[in-house]
Amino acid sequence: MTEFELISKIASQFSQCDMNGWEGIGDDCAVLPISDGKSLVISTDMLVEDIHFLRNAATPYEIGYKSLAVNVSDVCAMGARPTAALLSLSLPEDVMQEWVAEFMEGFSSLCKSCGVALVGGDTTASKERVTINVTIIGEAPSQNIKRRSAAKAGDLVVVNDKLGASGAGLRDILGGRCNTPEAQAHKMPRPMINEAVWLGSCSQVHAMMDISDGVASDVRHIMERSRVGAEIELAHIPTDYDIETALCAGEDYKLLMTISEDGFDRVAEEYFALFGERLYAIGHITDSCGELRWVENGKTAEVDFRGFVHY
Ligand code: ADP
Ligand code: MG
Repeated sequence: MTEFELISKIASQFSQCDMNGWEGIGDDCAVLPISDGKSLVISTDMLVEDIHFLRNAATPYEIGYKSLAVNVSDVCAMGARPTAALLSLSLPEDVMQEWVAEFMEGFSSLCKSCGVALVGGDTTASKERVTINVTIIGEAPSQNIKRRSAAKAGDLVVVNDKLGASGAGLRDILGGRCNTPEAQAHKMPRPMINEAVWLGSCSQVHAMMDISDGVASDVRHIMERSRVGAEIELAHIPTDYDIETALCAGEDYKLLMTISEDGFDRVAEEYFALFGERLYAIGHITDSCGELRWVENGKTAEVDFRGFVHY
């Protein structure tokens, strides 16, 4: 059973339960409308030693920073602003006080720069490895919340930065080169809160999610939730690396979105004026539900890119 089949099975076991006002499993965050036309969004992500990080290849500061950054990214994916986090740590005895102190410095420095309060958590022992779980809460006007399910046929598929640096960085780290710029991009992804909140306010932006497993996987989530298909033009993928790294390696923590075709130029122009960065149109949404077509020079490319999956 794959990771996503397991999640579907878990979700279906709860499909008949009362959701108590929550919009639940299936998006980057769960959503709860509160007062004054606002909604809370909430998500949780776990980082496990030797799966998500190697204790001898990243400093505790970097691990602390990334633990929060990947969670902030899920709030950004909804077009929301993060406000609070809970932090749970499971630590083996050989993890020294200095390790935890430095980890907390990384975690708290990003909390401060993102305006995120630490409001709780849990601390336990572990036999061998470090496990870190962060729960994050954010807020947005309800009408600004972006969902994976909102893509429409004809929309452009758009990313807000170049792809692949994190994947190239992981290769560097595994090859013992832990201090290249790419390794740095892998270890300390920059949250894009202002960009995400602004994109949330744009009605031309329909679906949005963050790129955690690679566009090759993540675009399929938008297709599935929106019951649409997509065509992606390989020549339009913005990257300084090979196309497979750009599409499949994941952990870029940039934003993947769909924008109405006639709204794209205006959104891209304003985005550039505000943030000095480009939006890249890499393809479009089709009404062929479930069909993902890779295109090269107008022809179907016989490739089958897949993103990262745990199993
Ligand atoms: P992301 O990559 O954005 O963190 P995931 O791919 O991990 O999202 O999860 C997809 C969806 O499934 C999310 O809505 C998430 O909350 C939900 N999910 C993942 N694992 C579980 C689980 N064990 N129980 C309930 N929901 C889960
Ligand atoms: Mg996500």
